[in-house]
Amino acid sequence: MQFNKVLDDVKLYEAGKPIELVVREYGVDEKDIIKLASNENPYGTSPKVTKKIQDIAKNMFMYPDDSMFELKEALANKFNVQSSNIIVGSGSDQVIEFAIHAKCNKNSKLLMSNITFAMYEIYGKQTGATIIRTKDDEHNLEQFSKLYKEHKPDMVFLCLPNNPLGECLDTKDVYEFLEEVDKETLVVVDGAYQEYAAFKDEKKKIVVDELISKFPNVIYLGTFSKAYALGGMRVGYGIAKKQIIQNLYKLRAPFNITTLSLAAAIEALKDEEFVIKCIDENFKEMKRYEEFALDKGFSFIKSYTNFITLKLEDKFISSEVAQNLLQRGIIVRDLTSYGVNAIRITIGSNEQNTRVFKQLEEVLKNLK
Ligand SMILES: *Cc1c(COP(=O)(O)O)cnc(C)c1O
Repeated sequence: MQFNKVLDDVKLYEAGKPIELVVREYGVDEKDIIKLASNENPYGTSPKVTKKIQDIAKNMFMYPDDSMFELKEALANKFNVQSSNIIVGSGSDQVIEFAIHAKCNKNSKLLMSNITFAMYEIYGKQTGATIIRTKDDEHNLEQFSKLYKEHKPDMVFLCLPNNPLGECLDTKDVYEFLEEVDKETLVVVDGAYQEYAAFKDEKKKIVVDELISKFPNVIYLGTFSKAYALGGMRVGYGIAKKQIIQNLYKLRAPFNITTLSLAAAIEALKDEEFVIKCIDENFKEMKRYEEFALDKGFSFIKSYTNFITLKLEDKFISSEVAQNLLQRGIIVRDLTSYGVNAIRITIGSNEQNTRVFKQLEEVLKNLK
């Protein structure tokens, strides 16, 4: 059967492996499995949110409030913008989809960093658009600038901080670049890990209301999946000037997040204390990974997120390391499909990380 030709060139997203698969394929006991492959919050969801969802479960027979009034009000408050500047999606993934489909067609060009979030390319190719990438793995604004002038792309993607590498540009440099960009170009600033970056280094912090008022062609994306520990609930959002939001809305199906998701996100915003505690712990634990890497002679990318990317140089092959860890019940992300010999490990809890170091130590010894 024939399908839309543009799909021939669309690759499938490779998600982090689920715990169920490791139980099934390697017979590891579920309680011994540590999943550090999808940058979830290892401390679980705030107990206040869990309780709220249990209370709200009785309302499941009803559609959620399609205006998402309360959630948008809470986000508007947090970011000092209007509700009309906000669109909520089933994960910020869906907002990326809306933005690309609203802006692009087969004649469009999308500019992004060489190694960055895979969904930009996937949604881009669904429209038949051309993908342009910088040469360096990490975000390099000089290269962005040069390619921008050369190709005049319809969209530019800045992942701040970047997944899967963890690096983050300084906001002042981003602003400088944005000054050069034509107002017809839609720039996506993906802030999936902004909470972490802003905590670690003031220079990386993005003030959203300032960003979108200075640059009316920018859409900022946030998610509840990482710092807010709601990956399973699928809630994300985009913030931009009204005209952008109104156009994205034309692609949205009604009730695009669930009654439970909506309640969970609203409640999560009331417990910022929990989020800060998790982030603080995250960076304490990250130090242990940095020390481990130094000790083993790997280089790592300085990370402003809840994961760390270890470059294995020519010492080991990342797919082998990941596979051996998997057999021991530890799920990490091999970055071979991104074209680098590296593994990305979500920073787990103290206890989880201790086990990771022990297992990784043994795996490396065996592979030597
Ligand atoms: C996790 C992530 C997202 C979106 O996640 P959702 O669960 O769809 O909200 C977007 N961008 C980056 C860079 C991410 O790492």
